[in-house]
Amino acid sequence: MNTGIPHATFDETTPVLIVGGSLVGLSTALFLRWRGIPSLVVERHPAPARLPRARAINPRTMELFRALDLESTIRAASSPISGNNEILRVESLAGREIERLVEGGADDLKAASPTSWGSIDQDQLEVILLTRLQSMGADIRFNTELLSLEQDEQGVFALIRERASGNTQQVRANYLVGADGNHSTVRDALGFSRLGPGTISHATNIIFEADLGEVLRGRRIMLCYISNPLLPDGQGFLMPIDNKRRWMFSSSLHPERGERREDLTDECCIEQIRIAVGVPDLEIKILPAYPWDTVKVGMWELTALYAEQYQRGRVFLAGDAAHAILPTGALGASTGIQDAFNLAWKMALILKGQAAPSLLASYEEERCPVGKLMVKQTMQRFFYRTGSGSSSLIDDASLIFGYRYQRGAIVAELDSAEAPLAQHPSTLSGEPGTRAPHIVLQRARERLSTIDLFGRNFVLLAGEEGTPWMTAAGTVANRLGIALDVWQIGPEGLCDVEGRWYTTYGVSTTGTTLVRPDGFVAWRSSELREQPEQVLLDVLTRILGK
Ligand SMILES: Cc1cc2nc3c(=O)[nH]c(=O)nc-3n(C[C@H](O)[C@H](O)[C@H](O)COP(=O)(O)OP(=O)(O)OC[C@H]3O[C@@H](n4cnc5c(N)ncnc54)[C@H](O)[C@@H]3O)c2cc1C
Repeated sequence: MNTGIPHATFDETTPVLIVGGSLVGLSTALFLRWRGIPSLVVERHPAPARLPRARAINPRTMELFRALDLESTIRAASSPISGNNEILRVESLAGREIERLVEGGADDLKAASPTSWGSIDQDQLEVILLTRLQSMGADIRFNTELLSLEQDEQGVFALIRERASGNTQQVRANYLVGADGNHSTVRDALGFSRLGPGTISHATNIIFEADLGEVLRGRRIMLCYISNPLLPDGQGFLMPIDNKRRWMFSSSLHPERGERREDLTDECCIEQIRIAVGVPDLEIKILPAYPWDTVKVGMWELTALYAEQYQRGRVFLAGDAAHAILPTGALGASTGIQDAFNLAWKMALILKGQAAPSLLASYEEERCPVGKLMVKQTMQRFFYRTGSGSSSLIDDASLIFGYRYQRGAIVAELDSAEAPLAQHPSTLSGEPGTRAPHIVLQRARERLSTIDLFGRNFVLLAGEEGTPWMTAAGTVANRLGIALDVWQIGPEGLCDVEGRWYTTYGVSTTGTTLVRPDGFVAWRSSELREQPEQVLLDVLTRILGK
């Protein structure tokens, strides 16, 4: 996009301009700030959105928040439905139960991580991130939007507008991150197209209050799909909001046939809800879906699309801007937050002069296949839940912990390009490009997980006879000017409580594993090599592009 901004003039500068101040934009800002990099976030809405969207954050993403010491804060703000565990398909809530949808796999997830699903409403999580950012002095501007951008070799020029006053400003940034959602201005500016099924349908978002205690019959419902010929397209769903009287009801809407949410009167909504609940005279109060909207009924799109490019020059896409993932399976926000973590550690190293700009090319190489995988797998989950049959459903544990970077900022082993994109974490053994596995360790009297060692810096883990690697690590880190944490697993260092480290990480007592700041294995040597210092220097130089 070329706006003819005069390059020599700009009103302010920032290392990173983040467009979109929802979950992924705020996460990007926080992950950068935690690494000492300030940014400017611009968000079109006047305040954090209060929409009933993500309610579950997957355990891999919770591991990232755990690294920032946010896990307990997130758990303390648990969603009111955190104790609910039933997903049903019914004719109506009061009527016949067609099936209970069991997706299982909880034990596999438990075995793979020191943490678990986070049950928190998206609006609450956004407030937590925002509060943390504000306490760190972050610059987050609501009611401000990106109008246009252009870039040159040295940076990005962006034109932003404060919506209340209409004032525009030119911002110069080293990098720009488009975390601006499914209808991304940044993606359009870059001219990136998307692939995938597209917008599958539109649905209403009707918030209401009613007493459903009697029809619930003690069931603790997370989500209830309604299959009933009296509803539009014969389907809808009910979801508790506050686990008391407030609910969300959603049914099909067809804008392509001229159907408009504006035309859905309270009476019309009440009629549909009574069918879904199965109580013809139920007392119902319809509430506005969005506080700032003049129309009571909200609308959302079910879209499954992925971009095939995430980067052009100094501009990047993250979150829904890069991959619009169906809500089924609760993977959209989590995948976007993982994008943000991946991007932030790389950008921070570059902005601190510790890595070459070429490191950022690995962001697209790594995250693009993951975005595509998640879009496709949530489609499979959608088919499964709507009873239309799914052919290639990958289990949750493989999808959440077992995906692999086949290329990128890793020193891959010979067969990694042939390896599956996702496999069960119990079948992985520390291969470069996979998430470094969780094993239980003990330090003095404290129990911890390997996962607790990762997040901030590169980490070198050495076996009990791997001291030469540890010595080499100190020298190489000094030489490259990077922070490299070093741990020995064994009696002299961290105790391998369950005796699983060597097999789980695929190294011998003289071997070592290098883990990246995002907890993915960068490289390993199963045993001691000649000139360990040179070996490690070559590896890190290759990864950092220095
Ligand atoms: C009903 C529902 C349930 C869901 N449940 C889950 C779940 O349980 N778990 C899960 O992981 N995911 C879930 N998701 C998906 C999740 O909500 C999204 O993946 C997530 O919101 C994506 O965050 P984002 O920041 O990338 O994009 P968005 O949340 O779409 O935010 C983009 C932001 O960019 C702003 N913006 C756009 N253009 C501009 C501009 N030019 N200038 C400034 N700002 C701009 C927008 O105002 C918006 O605030 C669900 C989604 C829905 C609809």
